[in-house]
Amino acid sequence: TKVIVPVHYAGVSCEMDVLLTIARQRGIRIIEDAAQGVNAFYSGRALGSLGDLGTYSFHETKNVSCGEGGALCVNDPSLLERAEIIRDKGTNRRQFFRGQVDKYTWVDIGSSYVPSEIASAFLYGQLEQMDEITTRRQQLYHFYRTRLKPLEVEGLLRLPRIPEDCDSNFHLFYILLPDSSTRDLLLDHLKSQGIMAVFHYIPLHTSPMGLRLGGRPGSLPVTEDLSSRLLRLPLYYDLTKHDQSRVVECVSEFLSQSNVHSAVPVPALISADQEM
Ligand SMILES: *Cc1c(COP(=O)(O)O)cnc(C)c1O
Repeated sequence: TKVIVPVHYAGVSCEMDVLLTIARQRGIRIIEDAAQGVNAFYSGRALGSLGDLGTYSFHETKNVSCGEGGALCVNDPSLLERAEIIRDKGTNRRQFFRGQVDKYTWVDIGSSYVPSEIASAFLYGQLEQMDEITTRRQQLYHFYRTRLKPLEVEGLLRLPRIPEDCDSNFHLFYILLPDSSTRDLLLDHLKSQGIMAVFHYIPLHTSPMGLRLGGRPGSLPVTEDLSSRLLRLPLYYDLTKHDQSRVVECVSEFLSQSNVHSAVPVPALISADQEM
C-alpha cells in the first residue's frame, strides 16, 4: 500500500485520527478525496488540509461550484513544486515567472489544469458566501431530519448521523431503506410524483474497471449493502419549504402504506448514535 484515499462522503469526515496514525506508522501517504468536503471540518480542521494532499471539486453538483474544476491542497511542501509543473503542461513556467529560471521548458509529465479567469471569478463570488450557503443547507438538512424522524422511530428507514467531531457542510441528504427493492420502488414512486431522488455510487470494486483490477463482488459486504439501500433526497440552496414538505409527505406516505415489514438493518460499521 502506497496511498490511502479516504472519501469524505456527504461533507462528513472519515475518522482521520485513525487513518493518519496508521499512515504515519507505516510511511503511507494520504490523499483526501474532499471533493464533497469544501468548508467542512474534522476536530476543527478543514477537510482537505489533513492528508499529504487533498482534492476539492467545484463541479456543478457541489455546494460551491464553477461548473467544472477543482483545487489541489498541497499540505506537504515537498510536493508543491512538482504539482505546479504537472498543472502547467509539465513545464517549469511558474519558476520562470518567479525569476528562478531564465527560460521555461518541458521538464516532467503534465497537462493543462489551470482554471480560467472567468470560471475563477464565478467561483469566487460563491466562496465569499460559503458560510451562508452552508447555513442554508443546514436548515434544509435539519428539516428533513426532524420531519423524517418518526419514520426512523418506526423502523421504516434510517437517517444519516454526523459524529460529534465533524462539522458537516451538509452536501447531501440520504436515507437508508430496509432493502434494495424498497429503495428502488420508492425511487420510482418519487419519480412518478415529479421528485428527482437518486441512488449513489456503485461500489468501485464491482464496476467493470474494478473487476478488471481484481475486485470481487462480495468482498466488501458493508459497502455493497449500503450502496443498494441508499437514496438521496433533493437538497439545493433555493429548495422551497413547500417543495421540501412535499418530498417528506411523499416519502412518508409511501413507507407507511407499503409492505415494508422488515426493520432497517443497522450497518455493522455505523454504530455511533449521536443525534444532531
Ligand atoms: C464530485 C466528486 C468527484 C469528482 O470531482 P470532479 O470535480 O468532477 O473531478 C470525486 N470524488 C467525489 C467523492 C465527488 O463527489
